[in-house]
Order: sequence, then C-alpha cells, then structure tokens
Amino acid sequence: MRQKRAKSYRKQMGVYLHAFKFREPYQTLLDDQIILQCHRTAFDLEKGLNRTVQSEVKPMITQCCMQALYMSRDEGAIEMAKKFERRRCNHNYKDPKSPSECIEDVVVVDGKNKHRYVVATLNEDLRSALRGIPGVPLIYINRSVMIMEPLSKASKEVQIAVESGKLTGGLNDAKLAGLRQKDDGLDAEGAPKTKKRSGPKGPNPLSVKKKKKEAKPSTEKENSSQAGNTEEAQPKKRRRKHKKSGEKAEDNSLEYSEEKSQENKEANHVGAGAETSLQSAEDVEPHSQDD
Ligand SMILES: [Zn+2]
Repeated sequence: MRQKRAKSYRKQMGVYLHAFKFREPYQTLLDDQIILQCHRTAFDLEKGLNRTVQSEVKPMITQCCMQALYMSRDEGAIEMAKKFERRRCNHNYKDPKSPSECIEDVVVVDGKNKHRYVVATLNEDLRSALRGIPGVPLIYINRSVMIMEPLSKASKEVQIAVESGKLTGGLNDAKLAGLRQKDDGLDAEGAPKTKKRSGPKGPNPLSVKKKKKEAKPSTEKENSSQAGNTEEAQPKKRRRKHKKSGEKAEDNSLEYSEEKSQENKEANHVGAGAETSLQSAEDVEPHSQDD
C-alpha cells in the first residue's frame, strides 16, 4: 500500500514538474494548524514532506500564519515554525488575515499558482478552494499519515492540454511537421560529418604498414633488376651507420661476406655498430644475391 502510494506521488510530482514547471526544492507553504498538529504528535513535518514529494522541500510560512501561531501560545510549535523561511504576504500585521485567506492570496495570482507553491494545510475549505487552481499540490495529515491529494480536475485539464500539445502539435500541423523533419535531416547529416572529422585524424595505421611492406619488396625487385637502384639503396645505409661514404662501401662489402661466414667475427669488426650492421644486413641481402 505504501509503495503504491509512493509510486502515485512520484507520478504526480512528475506532472507538476513537467506540465507546471515546478522546480526543486519545492516551496511549501504551511498553515498554522499543520504545524501545531505536527508538534503535538511529534510528527517530523519536514521529513514527512520530503518523503511525500520524494524530493527536497523548502518549508515556508506566511506572516499571517506566524501571527496565528503566536496567538496559539504553543512555544514548541512557534520555535519549530521560526526555522522555516518567512513568506512576506504584506498583509497588515496589526490586522492579519486568517491563515487560509492569507495562503490563498499568496498562492493564487491571476488564477494561477504563479510561484509554484506546494500547500500543506489541514483546512479543508482552503484545499477545496485551491483545487480550482491548476497545479497546486495539496498535502494534509490524516491520522498521522501525510497524504497528497490526487491531481485536481483543473490540474488534469492543463496536464492533458500540455501533453496533447506536445504529442500532436507538431505531427498534425503539416508545416511544423515538415520543419521538424528538415531539422532531423540536418541533424542526421551533421552527425556523420562530425564522426568523420573526429575519427581518422592521422593516416590509417593499417594502410601505412602495408605501404612499407610493399616498398621493400619493390626495392628488392628493382635491386635485382637494375644496378642503378642499388646505388640509391646504399646512401640509406650510410645515414644509419653515421660513417663516411668511403668506409661504408668497404664495410658493407666486408659485412656481406663475413656475415654469411661468421656473425660473431663481424660483430667484433664493426664494434659499436653491431646493431646497425644487423639492420643493414637485411637491406644488403639482395646485393649479395646479385654478387
Ligand atoms: Zn498574510
């Protein structure tokens, strides 16, 4: 039962949020009677409100309701109410309005709940009056159970109007529908474009690797076919070895012959250039084949 109620309250607050543009924390006007009862029954009013609307609540009390509380002389209830934010109603404090009159006056502006108040009151007449105003969540306490009234007829009518407006407004209006479709098309086109921009910033690594692999075999073929290309290949080796051109040519020839015979000896001859010699050996192999 409790879960069922919580679910319906959540649904209801969703309507106030979306159809009536309520914002959290919900400003909640409290009348003097609900504060007095909560104090009398040790009911945690703020906690109960938060649980009922399932969100943060900002409890507020009008100046006239505060005056009524002072008249009750219930010090505990007065202390409790003093913690709540005071809502200035600008009614004459020397001749305050009744709490229900004051709350109704504060809530209803041009037939609407302009400031989007939740109203927690034990006054049935006030609740009845506020049911005629669309979008006023009404809360009361019955037998130490806090209850939120179901959506009033006035609220439901607005909710239906808002929802039907959202659902059918664009679809039934041909011009609007066309505009929306165009917008959607632009978005759809824009999305892939952005994807293309964001995706391949550098060259595709797979394609780059393939090019390198293809380049080597091609040079080998060229080396085998033409002697001129072998001369071009040698300068590349020179750069790697960081040696003079004359030495390189000799070293290369030495490396080819010695590599095939004894790798250890070659390493000793070349010394520090052992690594480079191994690298060059791969490049050099085609030459040796030619020789
Ligand atoms: Zn007032």
